[in-house]
Amino acid sequence: VKDDRTITHAAHWADGPEKTALYTPGVPSPLNTGHVISRRSFLGASAGLGAAAIGGGWSVARASTGRAAPVRGAAGAGQPKARARNIIFLVADGFSAGALGLLEQYLRVTDRGPSQWRRITSGPGVRMALQSTYSANSVVTDSAAASTAWSVGAKCNNGALCVLPDNSRPEPLLLRAKRSGKRIGCVTTTTITHATPAGFYANVPVRGNQSMVGEQLVHRPVDLALGGGARYVDEALAGADGIRVVRTAAELGALTGDGPSRLQRGERVIGLFNREHVNMHLDRTEQEPGLEAMSRFAVEMLGRDSDEGFVLQVEAGRVDHAAHRNDAAGLLGDMIEFDRTLGFLAEWTRSRDDTLLVVISDHGCGAPSLTMYGRDGIRGLRRLGDVRHSFEWILEQLGKPETPEAGAATLARLVAEVFSVDLKPEELEFLRRALAGQPVELFTKRHELTSLLGVMLGNRSGVGFVTSDHTGEMTDTLALGAGSETMPAYIDNAGVVAWLTELAALAR
Ligand SMILES: [Zn+2]
Repeated sequence: VKDDRTITHAAHWADGPEKTALYTPGVPSPLNTGHVISRRSFLGASAGLGAAAIGGGWSVARASTGRAAPVRGAAGAGQPKARARNIIFLVADGFSAGALGLLEQYLRVTDRGPSQWRRITSGPGVRMALQSTYSANSVVTDSAAASTAWSVGAKCNNGALCVLPDNSRPEPLLLRAKRSGKRIGCVTTTTITHATPAGFYANVPVRGNQSMVGEQLVHRPVDLALGGGARYVDEALAGADGIRVVRTAAELGALTGDGPSRLQRGERVIGLFNREHVNMHLDRTEQEPGLEAMSRFAVEMLGRDSDEGFVLQVEAGRVDHAAHRNDAAGLLGDMIEFDRTLGFLAEWTRSRDDTLLVVISDHGCGAPSLTMYGRDGIRGLRRLGDVRHSFEWILEQLGKPETPEAGAATLARLVAEVFSVDLKPEELEFLRRALAGQPVELFTKRHELTSLLGVMLGNRSGVGFVTSDHTGEMTDTLALGAGSETMPAYIDNAGVVAWLTELAALAR
């Protein structure tokens, strides 16, 4: 086909994930393949996608090779020179543009703004991108498939961790980085065996098998792992030597002190600060270190201890859980913690010239947003600052009520305590019906009791949610530091690792 109106190749959708080319027009980059295709074939391929996506399976066939996306220009004679010695991959799980807006607006109306995100993106030297997140079998991804795509550059089905539809098991990113001589680690507020960290070090067909993930965490050479999930890791740890295990914030701090607990060069560390997830920010105990403190430890330990640099994933994992529950205050708490961690990591990255910081989300969740005008909206947002606990905490206190009536009464007391809100009789009736298992909302994605709580608080705060599940929107991505200028403005999640491999000259 001869067509003089050629366009540069930015058509990730058209080529499918394993061929995703990373190219930003006008930016000199080793990733610039110079590949051009005709407008006609671009449109043809794009038009074809719609029909195929509806039919399902289109990306299964395309993603079945199990190989990371090829990058030209890096392979060949000799080892390519790394532009980024260290990579910090900061994830806010389930973090959408709506959550970002809420963070910024909340901080503004409570005179604590602007957010670190806003400060960083208002300054020089930062790149922003939109990222598509679909998985092999679903337009709406889960965290396991999204983490897999980042880690190995290929799409798998929702629920799988680095096990592709053809049952191949490509080497996860952190292990490849280890093979390149780097130190590797994961930090999260979920269980350390949860989907997002696990996708960077484990190959497990079903994400729910967290004990199998825990086995791999212990028996693979991960230098640092901090988070929750003791119940999934303890058994594997029982037979392992040479790993320092810490259980509290104080024990973690002692590793960097001058006392007898001081960490020796090359030692591995596993921190397990809860049997399950680390508590959400609103409910956090003193025993549990925050995300910023864990990240500080991670970059100090991995940075000090390595000749070849490090690759570290940091996850604000509970943003997603709050969004699933339509818990606006809980969401803000963990978003604020994420934002502080971003501020710290950005400062650390900018204090040197050998580190790339990528800030990314695996998918949207809940689609939260302020939807109240004028003073009501401002007052509503401020009210969220008075909320004392997360919805998760409320559910724990509620337990299993004997009758729907008793449950509704308990909830009314808890709502008064946590939100300083006296529920109206008609609201109590809605709670009673929900507890009796009756639908209180036509949209089935909001049948959960927590969605109902979200609506009740939303009537006072002005913050609404569309769904209790993930959303298919594109997500915001930032890059700063070494090599960040080569990030394309549009990126697919399966294209990220080729870019990182190139920048950090990782083994293939
Ligand atoms: Zn989720």
